[in-house]
Amino acid sequence: AEALKKQPLVNVGTAGHVDHGKTTLIQALTGIWASHHSEELKRGITLKIGYADTAIYQCPKCPPPQKYYTSANLPSDMKCKYCGTPLEYVRKVSFVDVPGHEMLMSIMLAGSAMMDAALLVIDATKECPQPQTREHFTALDIIGVRRIIVVQNKIDVVSRERARESYNEIKRFLEGTWAEDAPIIPVSALHKVNIDALVWAIEKYVPTPERDHSLPPRMLVARSFDVNKPGTPVHELVGGVLGGTIVQGKFRVGDEVEIKPGVKLKKGGQEVWEPLYTTITSLKSGEEPLEVAYPGGLIAIGTELDPSISKADNLIGNVVGKPGSLPEPLYEIDLEVHLLERVVGTDQPLKVDPVRNGEVLMVNVGTMLSVGVVTTARHDEVHMKLKIPVVADEGTRVALSRQIAGRWRLIGYGFLK
Ligand code: GDP
Ligand code: MG
Repeated sequence: AEALKKQPLVNVGTAGHVDHGKTTLIQALTGIWASHHSEELKRGITLKIGYADTAIYQCPKCPPPQKYYTSANLPSDMKCKYCGTPLEYVRKVSFVDVPGHEMLMSIMLAGSAMMDAALLVIDATKECPQPQTREHFTALDIIGVRRIIVVQNKIDVVSRERARESYNEIKRFLEGTWAEDAPIIPVSALHKVNIDALVWAIEKYVPTPERDHSLPPRMLVARSFDVNKPGTPVHELVGGVLGGTIVQGKFRVGDEVEIKPGVKLKKGGQEVWEPLYTTITSLKSGEEPLEVAYPGGLIAIGTELDPSISKADNLIGNVVGKPGSLPEPLYEIDLEVHLLERVVGTDQPLKVDPVRNGEVLMVNVGTMLSVGVVTTARHDEVHMKLKIPVVADEGTRVALSRQIAGRWRLIGYGFLK
């Protein structure tokens, strides 16, 4: 139980149109700006999956929502600011931040594979729904993230009337969908107003998932790095690091692992992927070193891999497991396809045409992004040849996107047969 206190045990993601305040909201909740890359800071938009953890505390005497505190506003004496009672530790929550830009849907889809629940962030100053509000909402449904809290943001800059109107627009948007009863929490992420109410909603609607820790371990790789500074002497070099989410089981320092599909090789003029085998040399959740890592948060696995293999996110989309436990990489897939009625990510919703022989679709499975050519399409049965093989069990959901007017748009999903 002590080990389980060190790491977050639940992942809450963001979703929503670009600039509606996702990254700012995560900062209000955690105190951390989840965009780390210099390019992101320069351009002011999220380009990759970001994450930040927070610990939630509560005052045992005060009522909600005032009783809730996070790492972002924790008093230094650890006492309730209203009544002075010492605060109690509740749990750690990890926040997964995704980009809202229409060009970055594939990253949003990969991020969704890591979420147990999502905060759908909606800018109250804008008419709802905006195109990526619709597209992200649909993506959450497709990936199976069916726990959402709607966050009505930027209430600091709207009138009372506009706040009501925005609320009604959100209600209308959700009406008749699986999320029609989702809580809607008005906040100002920028001025940190009503964040305690949002924490309350997270505590109420996002329980820590029950996990079976005895399942064979599996991690989806969302980032990979060479953490050595240039010029490090050879004997001080450390092996490649993989960042991702454990979806089941647990990993331990010293475990042997396989990584699939692995690395691309040319064999007899053909591209094939060879799995990698290595040993876990370290585990971390944020800055916290662990002996054992469980599902929840972004876990960094230190390995004995040549860091040139893992540098610059080279291994994104790979799956890590015990040797012999992972499915074989699929170079061709059979899908039972379910198309959306309409393309939702465009300004005007368009009808989705049936899948055609010979067309190229983008395929998202877990954190893996691949593209494939449709070799046969009969009603809802589609066979595809993939550019990069995917590693997943039968029955796994696959998100499908099609290029429409130069952009990949979500058009539906399929089940792997
Ligand atoms: P993202 O693209 O959804 O991650 O949006 P960001 O978090 O990067 O925010 C986009 C812009 O909206 C930034 O300029 C923020 O400062 C601003 N913003 C975010 N939240 C609020 C808010 O609650 N009130 C106001 N007035 N501005 C906000
Ligand atoms: Mg952002």
